[in-house]
Amino acid sequence: MTKPIQRRAVLAGAAALAVVAFDPLKRSWITEAHAHGGGHGHGHGHGHGGDCCGEISIPGLDGELTVDPDAITEAADDFGHIVSRAPIAVLRPGSDDDIRKMVKYANDCGLKVAMRGQGHSTLGQAQVEGGVVIDSRTLNTIHEIECDRAVVDAGVTWNQLVAATVAEGLTPPVLTDYLDLSVGGTLSVGGIGGATNLNGVQIDNVIELEVVTGEGKLVKCSKKKKRKLFEAVLGGLGQYGIITRATVKLVPAPESARIYRLVYSDIEQYVADQTFLAEEERFDYLEGQAAPNGAGGFQYTIEAAAWFSGSDTPDDGALLAGLSFDSSTVEDQGYEQWLRRLEPTIAFLKLIGVWGFPHPWIDLFVPASEAANVASIALSTVAPDSQDPILFYPFLRSNLTRPLFMVPDEPVIFLFDILRTAPPIPGVPEALVDLNRSIYDAAAAVGSKKYPISSIPFDPADWEDHYGEKWEDVLDLKAEYDPNSVLTPGQGIFP
Ligand SMILES: Cc1cc2nc3c(=O)[nH]c(=O)nc-3n(C[C@H](O)[C@H](O)[C@H](O)COP(=O)(O)OP(=O)(O)OC[C@H]3O[C@@H](n4cnc5c(N)ncnc54)[C@H](O)[C@@H]3O)c2cc1C
Repeated sequence: MTKPIQRRAVLAGAAALAVVAFDPLKRSWITEAHAHGGGHGHGHGHGHGGDCCGEISIPGLDGELTVDPDAITEAADDFGHIVSRAPIAVLRPGSDDDIRKMVKYANDCGLKVAMRGQGHSTLGQAQVEGGVVIDSRTLNTIHEIECDRAVVDAGVTWNQLVAATVAEGLTPPVLTDYLDLSVGGTLSVGGIGGATNLNGVQIDNVIELEVVTGEGKLVKCSKKKKRKLFEAVLGGLGQYGIITRATVKLVPAPESARIYRLVYSDIEQYVADQTFLAEEERFDYLEGQAAPNGAGGFQYTIEAAAWFSGSDTPDDGALLAGLSFDSSTVEDQGYEQWLRRLEPTIAFLKLIGVWGFPHPWIDLFVPASEAANVASIALSTVAPDSQDPILFYPFLRSNLTRPLFMVPDEPVIFLFDILRTAPPIPGVPEALVDLNRSIYDAAAAVGSKKYPISSIPFDPADWEDHYGEKWEDVLDLKAEYDPNSVLTPGQGIFP
């Protein structure tokens, strides 16, 4: 059911006032009182119904445009808690059409806009200084679940989708480790997980999108229809369109997961065995971690899983053949329990308050030939008592299909992340961001790419390097789909 039309935005405060229009020259909202109090009649409107004095009326919306300080404060922050850029309003859309109208309105007013999913970026990627943030959490309906696909609003979380699909014996083929991320948010960046080695990233598993382009046009696109826009938006970092709805693939869900944890002390052997497993495509899920070993060095763990149902258990001998680990454990879990494996830890981190600390994460894609080298450089910066999760696992490039998901040019690629939590002491998170940048510089020199969810500062010249020979395509796509450069300035790609 659609919500009642609200043509006004509410300005919170002791003397709450409704805002009815924006003045692009003064870059300020016009309140109802001001509009009625003689602001009319000066002439130079922008050609819109109800405009006057250069003021542009807020379009009729199914949801609400709010200037409530709490909403502004939330939208000026993210999971990183490192940068803060305040928008001047937050749209809580009541429909896809609200997003279309707001992007069109932003074009008319000279405002910038970004969609914010669950706000789990770490360096302001969904923030818009002085612009409008669209909060996708109010667009969170699962419209259809069929045997091979689900149609969902962009604000649906993978957690929500998993709960609905696993109950019907279905699952998305690739899931992130943590499920409280919006579908729109991960489809804008990539969405990597343990099933990526077999099935690509989440953007490789999308059938159709509904998108609002930077000009405010609502368009359906897929591999067959408007393919250029489809491929621009998947992994497009919010630059060419806002995803409002997605049709994502589903596959039969297994009942159980057999988890193998294989421990290594030698990084070269670890990388060799991980590369071998990636190439062999033996496991349904392949991840891995590094952690301080308590003796000044690190231990490395392959975390692999084979799905199974009923008594059709995996063949342990065949799966582990040819590997040279130091020790191993094997454990069976229900499939959904496995997908939700991080929930108890996160609940604990929230309970003790650490979840709200700054998160200067570094996330890199490294060519397999340089994985041990880059990991060693990065690990040399990790304190021996660090508790930060360090992800270090391979995947095949050949299963990736989307042109704007930038990875190194080698058949096997490693994800390397240090998921840092920093104390909320001024200067400490910023110093770790600088450290990330110096690790990135060393990694990029040997062909690595940044995963753009990271806290690694980039200027437009860095983005040009990032996209390499695709940079001209990126400029053309921006000119075609967002000619006024309205969308998602927080990524910092275009000046
Ligand atoms: C605890 C945690 C665990 C994570 N685990 C993984 C993991 O396992 N694998 C992985 O790949 N990533 C992981 N991530 C990173 C995560 O995928 C990205 O940060 C993702 O962007 C977050 O989704 P979000 O809904 O919070 O998006 P936001 O942070 O709100 O937005 C991310 C970017 O996408 C844009 N955007 C958001 N919605 C849309 C839309 N509908 N249309 C167009 N652009 C949009 C935003 O403007 C912004 O630029 C993790 C992050 C956290 C904090």
